[in-house]
Amino acid sequence: MAPTRRGKAPQHWLDLTEAERRDAVVALGLPRFRADQISRHVFEGLDLDPAGWTDLPAEDRQRVAEAFLPRLLTDVRPLSCDGGTTLKTLWRLHDGSLIESVLMRYGVPGIRASGNGRNRATLCISSQAGCGMACPFCATGQGGLQRNLSAAEILAQVLAGARTLADGQIPGGPGRINNIVFMGMGEPLANYKAIMATVRTLTAPGPHGLGISARGITVSTVGLVPRIDQLATEGLPVTLAVSLHAPDDELRDELCPINTRWNVAELIDAAHAYFVATKRRVSIEYALIRDVNDQPERAAMLADVLRRDGGYGWVHVNLIPLNPTPGSKWTASRRDDERAFVRVLERRGVAVTVRDTRGREIDGACGQLAASQAAG
Ligand code: SAH
Repeated sequence: MAPTRRGKAPQHWLDLTEAERRDAVVALGLPRFRADQISRHVFEGLDLDPAGWTDLPAEDRQRVAEAFLPRLLTDVRPLSCDGGTTLKTLWRLHDGSLIESVLMRYGVPGIRASGNGRNRATLCISSQAGCGMACPFCATGQGGLQRNLSAAEILAQVLAGARTLADGQIPGGPGRINNIVFMGMGEPLANYKAIMATVRTLTAPGPHGLGISARGITVSTVGLVPRIDQLATEGLPVTLAVSLHAPDDELRDELCPINTRWNVAELIDAAHAYFVATKRRVSIEYALIRDVNDQPERAAMLADVLRRDGGYGWVHVNLIPLNPTPGSKWTASRRDDERAFVRVLERRGVAVTVRDTRGREIDGACGQLAASQAAG
């Protein structure tokens, strides 16, 4: 495999396509059929350690481990809350960069904090170490971009989460991941190639991938318009989430500086075109910030900019109570203002939900765990 460049992760089984995996085992001097065998252990057994793979000759296990399965993630600090149904993990990468992933299980009988509804699990993953988008309300945005993650570093977060669930380490019994959201650290569409490789392996049926439905995968973006256009051509029905946070350019220029490159109108046009191409309802993320973007006039303005073909059938607004970052001048909206904002949207016929605040006491969303670790 390729030698390690500083910063860049060593190449890994999880970086390869099915065809590349076959070539790689042959290049190592092993029979071609070993590729499917290794993939079964990795994707079906969720096991990245060949030491216990008894169907592989003992002398080959070490070679396979060294050639294809270098350790990518080291668990620095797991934190759990919501009765054990939210598990956040801080990971150290081979070059010392820190990232995090969050596993959230819903609808666990007997655990109120896990919410109602059917038993399901969502994993929130990071796509970059740090982020270059510099949104001032986001903890990750404050530290700048360290580097892109490799596909294997992204997939390794998923394998770890899947393993934790399969092993029954989360209350509710052994389970599976139903949804994956690219809402951890980083701007996924700024790491486009690795994200596409990741999605292809996530959705590939076993033994070549994890067999997760594309519909259960959400790619969240601050608004890299050309990349949204490109994503629409991939023929993959992943859900697109657009982090809008303001309906007007004046405010959005401040909250999401990339808006000075692609403005609100261009972004909503691209999001709507994504809906037309994929028939997938687009999710509009809007963090409610007290007295900044939470006025009823802005709710009305939001409805105006989202209106397409006379209605709102293409879109769903997801309001996120701001999770204040340390030292920030901003905080979450008052409950009354939040309710009024929702009411304006509902009256206009916009589908709207307020996101639950899972994991709030362990710095839930938003890169705060990695940020505080790096500072400490
Ligand atoms: N770069 C991607 C993924 C970011 S994280 C994007 O911008 O969509 C996922 C969501 O969390 C984004 O909508 C982001 O704007 C939001 N977010 C970031 N910091 C937050 C905070 N402090 N409180 C609430 N939401 C936040």
